Amino acid sequence: MDAGPTVGDPADGADEWPGQVTERTMADGRPMFYFDDVATAGAVHLAEDTRPLPEPPHAGEVRFDVLTGEWVTIAGHRMNRTFLPSAADCPLDPTVDPSRPTEVPDSRYDVVAFANRFPSFAPLTVGPGVDAVPPTIGPADRPAYGHCDVVVFSSDHEAAVVDLPVARMRTVVEAWAQRTAAHSADPQVAEVFVFENSGQEIGVTLTHPHGQVYAYPTLAPRSAQLVEQARRHRAATGGNLLADVLAAEQAEGTRVVLTGEHFTAYVPRAARWPVEVHLAPHRDVPDLAALHDAEKAELAVVYQELLRRLSRFHPGVDRVPYISGWHQAPTGEDRALGRLHLQLFSLLRAPGKLKYLAGSESGMGAWINDTTPERIADRLREVAS
Ligand SMILES: [Zn+2]
Repeated sequence: MDAGPTVGDPADGADEWPGQVTERTMADGRPMFYFDDVATAGAVHLAEDTRPLPEPPHAGEVRFDVLTGEWVTIAGHRMNRTFLPSAADCPLDPTVDPSRPTEVPDSRYDVVAFANRFPSFAPLTVGPGVDAVPPTIGPADRPAYGHCDVVVFSSDHEAAVVDLPVARMRTVVEAWAQRTAAHSADPQVAEVFVFENSGQEIGVTLTHPHGQVYAYPTLAPRSAQLVEQARRHRAATGGNLLADVLAAEQAEGTRVVLTGEHFTAYVPRAARWPVEVHLAPHRDVPDLAALHDAEKAELAVVYQELLRRLSRFHPGVDRVPYISGWHQAPTGEDRALGRLHLQLFSLLRAPGKLKYLAGSESGMGAWINDTTPERIADRLREVAS
């Protein structure tokens, strides 16, 4: 049974954030955390989740692709996940009518994070699936161990992240940081990825404003490549690759689109998407959890400014679909080779025209950008607030 809410001191890394975190447990045992804004700190979240839920799904498996050296997650149970429900059936809304309970039992909340009901990676690994058919070549399958959180940014189903009050955005940053810290403490987690998909063009299955946190059991392919590149760079120069890229962009300046006290945003020299911008902290930090209070406060402001510019990028397009992903340092031995940075990009290359990952990109992994990074940077400066 639920022992009732635990309102604790903010976890390490919370610094002086004056909001409040309340931990609860969902009906099927999944953990849940209410993050209250500064203005609503002191709120009490007593509502119980009384739904008759089945046990959460066990982890699927990861299989090794011997042709690429990459792990592929096989998560067959996700085929049945909630897909574009009507607004009246949104599982991320607060529970205002007890006869229609949602994932969030309370009738009001600011930000809430909880374990995904249909996770790609799960902490429960006992069960059938792994090595059902042992491979005759390559490493054995492994359980898709890990954690997948949903982070809901607002109780307002129609809200857009770009329009959230900045104090709310600061609460979201806190949730990102604290969930990163919690999952990084799990010795079986290799890295934590914080991301947001926005727009049905991206494949969003729930339109309610929310993001996700994935804690992977092995380094994702992009991170493994980055670590390898960073290792080579360190061997050749002694420097940290991501820090040196930031310094080079700052020195050259042509692709820098925003400079704050603690963060700089630039379009990467070899941008692969028709709209792409990276945001990096000035201080060498491995992840969001390592940011201090002033950095998190500025991040809340500059993140929304980047989203605003994205929304103005294409004339006549109100909501530009985007993917926003926080690349964080590996939690293990290669931690020093990583460095926190955001990759924010859109597949929309022109109004009504999506960049599809066709033959060259999907088949070969060979990227072709139909514009230039310098043009992207010009436009992102032009549409500044
Ligand atoms: Zn909703």
